[in-house]
Order: sequence, then structure tokens, then C-alpha cells
Amino acid sequence: MKKVYIETMGCQMNKSDTERMLGMLSHFGYEEVENPKSADLLMVNTCSIRQLSEDKAYSLIGVWGKWKQENNPDLKIGFCGCVAQQKAEKLFKRAPYVDFVLGTHNIYKLPEIIKAVENGEKVCECTETHKTEDTRGFGIKRVKSVNAWVNITEGCNNFCTYCIVPYTRGRERSRLPEVIIQEAKDALAEGHKEITLLGQNVDSYGKDFKDKNYRLADLLRDLNALDGDFRIRFVTSYPTDITDELIRTVVELDKVCEYFHIPMQSGSTEVLKKMNRRYTREEYGAIVKKVRDMVPDVTITSDFIAGFPGETEEQFEETLTAIDEFELDYCNVAAYSPREKTVAAKWVDKFIPEDVKDERFQRLNKKVQENCLKSNLKYVGREMEILVESFYERSGKLINTGKTRNNKTVHVPYDKDLTGQFVNVKITGAKTWYLNGEVTKILRH
Ligand code: SF4
Repeated sequence: MKKVYIETMGCQMNKSDTERMLGMLSHFGYEEVENPKSADLLMVNTCSIRQLSEDKAYSLIGVWGKWKQENNPDLKIGFCGCVAQQKAEKLFKRAPYVDFVLGTHNIYKLPEIIKAVENGEKVCECTETHKTEDTRGFGIKRVKSVNAWVNITEGCNNFCTYCIVPYTRGRERSRLPEVIIQEAKDALAEGHKEITLLGQNVDSYGKDFKDKNYRLADLLRDLNALDGDFRIRFVTSYPTDITDELIRTVVELDKVCEYFHIPMQSGSTEVLKKMNRRYTREEYGAIVKKVRDMVPDVTITSDFIAGFPGETEEQFEETLTAIDEFELDYCNVAAYSPREKTVAAKWVDKFIPEDVKDERFQRLNKKVQENCLKSNLKYVGREMEILVESFYERSGKLINTGKTRNNKTVHVPYDKDLTGQFVNVKITGAKTWYLNGEVTKILRH
């Protein structure tokens, strides 16, 4: 067997692509190794959301290039993912030791690329496509985990002014339901207990199907009908694409969990407009309220950006009040980072000074922490079902950690590893990022 090492940067979408690439490579005699020094093929799957991540990828291949030049001329190096999609051939100039550049649109071409590279060719495959990639037949080499991620859409049509995704992942394409359902079946057969459907905007799934009217709610129904004890989640939702039918489906289906991730990005309607988000503060609030009213015990999480170009102190404070007003249970926060090609990156004269941006980022983090604790405290004393994901040892005791249906992490001491089991727990305490509990009943495997 030849050996491959893949360094994956960035979001879950990239991690999912890596699992797909490893699946293909295993058909061509490659096994994954953890030590890059022992590999015949080194690949980096890059992220271009922030400059820091892009720089990290360049510095990593710099090290690999040295290994190749000094000790191992047969070593093959591949540069993949979002930065590859943007830079294409330019990468060869910057890093002549790279053997292939593979963007996000053509992952299914990896086998032919590897063949060409093994024959000494240099390959760049970054053509934009409007089709969904299809790597059926190669399988997916999933990370050993209770949860399996299944992509349902690729790309995005929204062109938020700060976001690079439409440029790196192209226009939105929905994957065929039969392909998704087969991938879910395979994951369940491998022992995964949770399927998370993944896409930039999962709730616009199916909008591009010309020959059928089949949307996310239909897909959830078909997946829910599969045999077995498992849970279903989906991320990420674009606020105005969430339909009443989708919310009703979540309530109706027993395997679909009560969890919505609905990025708001800013609490100020003026900033939202500049971000090209297609809703106002009030409209976002109304959607969140509707989800809360219809789905008992739902957890709603969000994303926010601090220091978007031109954001005033008052507008930033609207973000802080939105987190309170809409009782957001948890939020990912980031300081604005300009990305080449995006509209907002050109508004240099409106850029917020780094120290102000940083200070807003810290205040935003503090607000998120406060609200997260408030949200967790609601559950103390309740009995909840968790799916155990892993365990660790503390002071000689085994602690299992799992997630409730509504995505709260719970730590429970127990004398056995319960990974992969559904367990009832009594919540005994709340911390900022997790709950403590004790096992009341082992439900089922
Ligand atoms: S919805 Fe906006 S932020 Fe999300 S991926 Fe699309 S362009 Fe980027």
C-alpha cells in the first residue's frame, strides 16, 4: 500500500471532502497515515475564509517542499480545496514543488489526477462546474465518530458581500436524493448513529431541480423512514429560506432533532443590507420566534461578524441586543476579515481599525458566553436523552460526553464507555459550554 497524509483546514465541508478523497484514494492503493513524514503523497485541503488559514497552508507546503527537495524527490504534493480553486495555476509559480492543484469543483477527478501525477505530470484541475460532483462507487472513508456528515448541496447563490464561498465553491447545486439516501444508509450500516445533512443553505435544497418538486422536508421524511435507531440534523439554514413546512416536518419526524443553526451576522438592519443579507432585524426575529413557538425545546444558534466595514458603535450594540432579544442559545463569532474578490473587501476606507474590531469581538464573545450559560441553566433538573459521543478520564473516573436532541453537550460520570448508546440522564448542573448530568437509564444501542 502507498501512504497518503491529508491535512484538512477550515469548515465541515472541507472535512467532508477529505473523507470523500480518502475513499477514492483507498481504491487506488493508498492508505491514510497520521505521520506526514511516512507518506508518499501529501495533500492539504485548504480554507480561504480568512487570510490566516491561507497563510498556514502556504507555510505547510513550504515545509513539505523542503522535505521533497532535500530527502525525498519521489514525494508527491497536492494542493486542494478553496484556496486551490481561487489560485489555480498561480500556485505552481509560488510553490514549484507542488504536483497537483485540485479545486473544490472536481474532486471526482482525483483518481485520474493521481494517475497522471504518478507518471510525472503536473496537473491543475480547477474548472468551475455547474454539476454536482459524483464520487459514487468509491465510497467515503469517514472519520470514526458517532456522527456522519452527508453533503446535500454544494456552493451558494447568495453572494453576501463579505463571503468568499460563492467564488470558491460556485453556484448552488443540490445533490440527488437517491445519492444522499444511499450515503446515509452506508453510514448507518457502518455504525454511525447520527446523520448531519450539510450545505451552505440546506433549506434551499432542491430549488434547482427542474424535473421534480423535492425539498429538504421531503428528504428528511425519506431519511426518517430508514430502519434503525439514529438521529438526523441539518446545518446551515438561511433565515428566509426556512419554510413553515420544514418547521412542521422537524416537529413531526421522530428522528429529526430540535436544533436550528440560523446565522444572523448582524443585529443592525443597515449593516445587514450592506452585507447583502436579505432580511431585516425584525424579519430575523420573527423567523426565530416562529421556530421557537412551533418546536418545543428547540436550540437556536447563530453566527455574527464584529467590525464589518462601516459598522458604527450603535450598530454593533444592536448585535449585542439581538442576541438577548432573540434568546440565541449559542453563537459563533468572528472579527471581519477582508477576502479578495468579495465586494466588502473593496471598502477599504470603511474598514474598522484592528483595535476597535478586536474590542467588539471580545464584547461579542462575552455576550455569547453569558447567554450560553443562561440557556444551559434552563435544563437543570430535567431528564433528557443523550447520544454518547465519546469519553475521557478525570481523577480516575470515566466521564462520558454526549449530546441531547437539542444539541446541548452533557458530561456524565459512568463506569463504562457508553459511546454510541442512547442514555437518559438527569441534568444536575450547568456550565457555560456544557451541562453535567447523571445516568438514569441506558435506553438502547
Ligand atoms: S449565504 Fe452568504 S455567508 Fe453563507 S455561504 Fe452563501 S454567501 Fe457565504
